[in-house]
Amino acid sequence: MTSFRYLAPATRADATAALAAPGAAPLGGGTDLLVTIKERIAAPTELVDLRRLPGARDITVRDDGGIRIGSAARIADLAAHPAINVNFAALAQAAASVGTPALRNMGTIGGNLGQRIRCWYFRRDLPCWKHGGAECLAWKGENQYHAIFGRGPCHAVHPSDPAIALTALEATVEIAGANGATRTITMAELYDGAANNRDGETTLADGEMIAAIELPAESAGGTQYYEKVMQRGAWDFALTSLAAVRRTDGNVRLVLGGVAAAPYRVNESIEEDVASGGLDGDSIDALAERALYDAEPLSQNGYKVWQAAALLRRAMTTLGTARA
Ligand SMILES: Cc1cc2nc3c(=O)[nH]c(=O)nc-3n(C[C@H](O)[C@H](O)[C@H](O)COP(=O)(O)OP(=O)(O)OC[C@H]3O[C@@H](n4cnc5c(N)ncnc54)[C@H](O)[C@@H]3O)c2cc1C
Repeated sequence: MTSFRYLAPATRADATAALAAPGAAPLGGGTDLLVTIKERIAAPTELVDLRRLPGARDITVRDDGGIRIGSAARIADLAAHPAINVNFAALAQAAASVGTPALRNMGTIGGNLGQRIRCWYFRRDLPCWKHGGAECLAWKGENQYHAIFGRGPCHAVHPSDPAIALTALEATVEIAGANGATRTITMAELYDGAANNRDGETTLADGEMIAAIELPAESAGGTQYYEKVMQRGAWDFALTSLAAVRRTDGNVRLVLGGVAAAPYRVNESIEEDVASGGLDGDSIDALAERALYDAEPLSQNGYKVWQAAALLRRAMTTLGTARA
């Protein structure tokens, strides 16, 4: 394990100034970052602990019913928060499905969104595409847990459960950078180009950090849930998962996890067909098939297409059989 300096800034300005130094990395609960250092796939020289920043752990319900979540809020606090459970149940369920109680109590939402891929070639520091190799080793190798959407170059899937729910809930991400600059991006923008990025899976620039996540009032309530298929009944990463949301304005959002380098939102025209309601069994089968039309499973993960179809059919039955 390489040595590093630990910093615990008390203000956001100090944190972003510290993060601007070459080799600095944001630290949440450390449940992934410290493992990647030990695995020798990360070698930061300074760890900038964000948990002591003012408001970093706060979960604040706004007057309009939306919620602001500080980036260092623990996964366990999201899972247990009353307003998140009542109005953003898909997120509460996704948070509750993360790993073990110990991980949920230590891990933060910022770190969960920033965690690295779980691909075994990458984690074992083999010369895969992300480590500078010519091609993805999973592409022709052991790929049962890899992506069915996207053509690489990296075929790993993003491991975060909360990211799938946050995408369906159309959350936005507040990014803080040097000199007090902030910008707000969508979840899709956060993971844009994840399969093409050798340095990480997010679009954060060096020196930037996730400061907060905003859940919009428009996504509160309605019918929503998160469903996760795992290989084991106990803790595990998702083989496939789905966040399904029918908002109070009737709009539907369907986002698959475990199938791509980033949360995979199904084609909007399919969401619109589900929103218009009145679906019968045949139309649900046809829509699920259409949603997965672009899937290109690898040699060992064709089962994910069937799993995703089952998750979609169930969601379409729940959200799409009532008349709009
Ligand atoms: C055994 C095991 C099982 C797991 N199972 C699941 C699971 O089922 N579902 C799931 O979703 N996750 C799972 N995880 C991942 C776990 O949830 C993450 O390790 C955790 O959420 C990371 O949070 P952290 O605060 O400890 O992040 P850290 O380890 O502190 O950081 C992780 C990464 O994010 C960066 N980072 C941290 N905070 C910020 C920020 N505010 N802004 C920008 N970048 C930041 C760090 O620099 C680092 O690169 C599992 C992990 C393990 C070890």
